[in-house]
Amino acid sequence: MEKKPLLTVKNLKQHFPIKGGFLGRTVNHVKAVDDISFTIYEGETVSIVGESGCGKSTTGRAILRLDEPTSGEVYFQGENVLTLSNRKMRKLRKEMQIIFQDPYASLNPRQTVKQILEEALAIQKVVRKKERNDRVLDLLEKVGIAAYQADRYPHEFSGGQRQRIGIARALSVDPKLIICDEAVSALDVSIQAQVLNLLKSLQKEFKLTYLFISHDLGVVRHISDRIIVMYLGKIVETGDKHSIFENPQHPYTKALLSAIPVPDPERKKERIILKGDVPSPINPPSGCRFHTRCPFATDLCKTKEPVLTTEDHMKESHQAACHYINDFAGKIPAHN
Ligand code: SF4
Repeated sequence: MEKKPLLTVKNLKQHFPIKGGFLGRTVNHVKAVDDISFTIYEGETVSIVGESGCGKSTTGRAILRLDEPTSGEVYFQGENVLTLSNRKMRKLRKEMQIIFQDPYASLNPRQTVKQILEEALAIQKVVRKKERNDRVLDLLEKVGIAAYQADRYPHEFSGGQRQRIGIARALSVDPKLIICDEAVSALDVSIQAQVLNLLKSLQKEFKLTYLFISHDLGVVRHISDRIIVMYLGKIVETGDKHSIFENPQHPYTKALLSAIPVPDPERKKERIILKGDVPSPINPPSGCRFHTRCPFATDLCKTKEPVLTTEDHMKESHQAACHYINDFAGKIPAHN
C-alpha cells in the first residue's frame, strides 16, 4: 500500500531577530532552523535528534505556528499551514497536538484532572456536554490513570503520571499528529520505557502519527521508524532507524551513537568525544557547520557546505551531508 504523506516541511527557516543599539533595530538573527525539508507519512514515528540548540524544538513549534516561521512551507494533509487564517489554524490545531517535557507547566494547578480534560473537550467541541464525563474517564483509563484519581490535582501525581495526563489531554481532541517535544526526557529510565510503550500502543489504537523530538538517540531507538539528525539548524543525516543505528554516515551521528551507554561491561565501545560546545547559531561556521568540532575536518569543509546525498553503499532513503561519506564508509565503528 502506498504511504500517504501527513506532514511535509519544505525549506523551513526560523530566524529570530536580535534587537540592539539605541533604536532597537534588528542587528542580527539567531538562525535556529535554516532551510530544512522532510516528510512524515501517516502512521509512522519520525524522530528529530540533536544536542540542545540544534533547532529540533524550534522546528516543532514552527510547524504548529506557536512561533511564526521566517519562511518555508508546512503542508498538513495537503494544506499549507503557514497560509491559513487564525480561525482555520485554530481548527487545525485539534489535528496537531503537542506534548511538552514538563507537563506540570502546561497543566493548570488549580484544576482537577477531570476539569483539565473536560475543558479541552469543551474548547474543541469534541463531544456533547453530557458525554464529557464518560469520555474523560475513558481517556484516563487508556493512559493508565484510575477513575478514582480524576478529581485529584496535578501536584498529587508523579512525573510519569502527569505525562500520562498530558497524553490524555492531547488525545482528547482526536488528533492525527502528536509532536512529543522531549516528552520523556525528565522521567526516570524505567518510567520512560513505560511512557514510550504507552505511546506505541496508543499509536496503534488511534492510528496516530508522531514527530518525536529528543536529544537522546538511545530513547528514540525504541519508538522511531525514521530518524532525522540535526546540527545547528540543519539536517545532517536522515534515514530509517536501521540505517542510522547500523550504518551511520555522518561523523556527528556517529559521535551521538558512541555516547549511548552499553549495558554489557565486557563490551568495549569506542567513544567519539566532540571538541567544544555547539557554536552560536547567530554566526554559524562557514562551509560545513560541524567543521569546528569534526575530528575529520579538512580545508574543503571550512569553505564548502555539504548537501544531503545518498551514496552507493547507502539505502535509497538514507541521506547524509558530509563531503567524505565514501572515505568514511566502514572506518568508524557503528553502534550495534
Ligand atoms: Fe566533518 Fe567535513 Fe564531513 Fe563536515 S563535511 S562532517 S567537517 S568531514
